[in-house]
Amino acid sequence: GKKVGVLAVQGDVSEHVRAFVDALGGEGEVVEVRSAADLAGCDAFAIPGGESTTIARLIGENGLREAIRSFTGGIFATCAGMVIVAATINDTRFAPLGIVDITVERNAFGRQKDSFEADLEVLGLEDPFHAVFIRAPVAAAAGPGVEVLSRIPQGIVAVRQGKHMALSFHPELSGDLRLHRMFLAGL
Ligand code: GLN
Repeated sequence: GKKVGVLAVQGDVSEHVRAFVDALGGEGEVVEVRSAADLAGCDAFAIPGGESTTIARLIGENGLREAIRSFTGGIFATCAGMVIVAATINDTRFAPLGIVDITVERNAFGRQKDSFEADLEVLGLEDPFHAVFIRAPVAAAAGPGVEVLSRIPQGIVAVRQGKHMALSFHPELSGDLRLHRMFLAGL
């Protein structure tokens, strides 16, 4: 079975752990990651939603920045995680990791629509995915190696690049594990 690490420094960690435990269906294991040693041996790594400036700072303080950049498994980055793995962001307070070739705009939906839900058409899924957006980012642009899985008028909200996936929304909150399973199948 696969070993999935979940970055456990800030954000909705327990929901991600639960979703991957369920998606693995008794095979494999899920571990919380707070150090490079925790990440070693993982086949996949999830970066949860939360506050991207805080998560980026804690990645640095925990000596995880280079460990994540050189990680050879798949990365499942959601919401704040999508900001962190991007190539370029509209915020100068921290440098994104440059793992997924996307240009990301933080808090892309402004204050009135800070949070909303939408049924998305996602490439590779037969039926729409009910997505929960919470002060969500979008990708304004994606490089040639990036497959756009879903797009709404405001921008790109789901991508895949090799083994990695980055999502603007919170798939761990929908009770729908299809995107987790798509990710695990691509490892
Ligand atoms: N707005 C947050 C950020 O950019 C992300 C929100 C979330 O992860 N739900 O840090």
